Amino acid sequence: MTAIAATPPIQPPLLGKSRAELVEWVQQQGQPAYRGKQLHEWIYAKGVRSLATISVFPKQWRAALETVEVGRSHLHYRAVAPDGTIKYLLRLSDGHMIETVGIPTDKRLTVCVSSQVGCPMACTFCATGKGGFLRNLATHEILDQVLTVQSDFGQRVTNIVFMGMGEPLLNDQAVLAAVRSINQDIGIGQRCITISTVGIPGRIRRWAEHQLQATLAVSLHASNQSIREQLVPSARQYPLPMLLEECREYVQITGRRVTFEYILLAELNDLPTHADELAHHLRGFQSHVNLIPYNPIQEMDYQRPTPKRVETFVQRLQAAGIAVSVRQTRGLEADAACGQLRAAIAPRIDSKNSENR
Ligand code: SAH
Repeated sequence: MTAIAATPPIQPPLLGKSRAELVEWVQQQGQPAYRGKQLHEWIYAKGVRSLATISVFPKQWRAALETVEVGRSHLHYRAVAPDGTIKYLLRLSDGHMIETVGIPTDKRLTVCVSSQVGCPMACTFCATGKGGFLRNLATHEILDQVLTVQSDFGQRVTNIVFMGMGEPLLNDQAVLAAVRSINQDIGIGQRCITISTVGIPGRIRRWAEHQLQATLAVSLHASNQSIREQLVPSARQYPLPMLLEECREYVQITGRRVTFEYILLAELNDLPTHADELAHHLRGFQSHVNLIPYNPIQEMDYQRPTPKRVETFVQRLQAAGIAVSVRQTRGLEADAACGQLRAAIAPRIDSKNSENR
């Protein structure tokens, strides 16, 4: 007997629709426009998961709405790190799992969102790439991550970083729609949103055309082509001078500076000569370097440099007039730090810092 594939929902999920689109949608259902505004508030501000529970809607209509999907995922697992960072494993409607991280600081709550299930880029130091690539996320699956963290913390999300699983510029249409909705529907300023890319030929230029106020972060990770190729396999098709040229165009088109992310791997790319080489490339470039000391993953025996070596690298860049910061590691104990996310099928629940609910 042949298995019958599950039929996809007839209606696309509502999450991701703007206020105007929701007003239009309720009118198509024979309802007055103000119901669309209510729907918008219930979806984005109250985080409703099922339309049947919207108490301000007439009972009869609520029953008819039962089959319409909001587009929320299911919280499968949650791990709390000692620093308060929480990693979430979310189950999508097709059963795939993605990870999302909520990172609290004094005044902020940052969500690190995934843009794909897995990642095709296979950067050697990153856990996500080890499991390969399954599919792009839809816009509502990106937005759901923000709403999930917001409701779990019971606090407004202030910042978004597209630094979870996946390569955002390989899914740029859904990411663009998500950025619009995060900004206009959830109410987070564009300047508080960062999109991180490893660099896909032509895509940085294309992204610039949208003239967003969001920050673009580019994962450079090396001061020359030969080291970059060792760490980032896709660099073979995208030589460093070409990538840097496209970043310059981005600055010209948008008038905004680029952040260059640089993972620090002991002995591999963290020597003073590497800092000098990097500074040489970036001299006069409207940019900022964000150093990321390597977070360990099981598969690789790269080493994180000592704080002293990190400091030397920083000083060397500063001496050359380069703006630089060091990313503070968050969530390491919950495997929630940069590069530690993976689409785990069976999460570890033995850690004393983990909670399952
Ligand atoms: N695909 C996007 C987003 C990746 S995650 C990109 O490549 O930019 C965000 C950042 O974490 C990237 O700069 C990525 O290279 C970095 N990263 C990946 N694995 C890491 C690890 N093990 N330790 C530290 N940073 C890591």
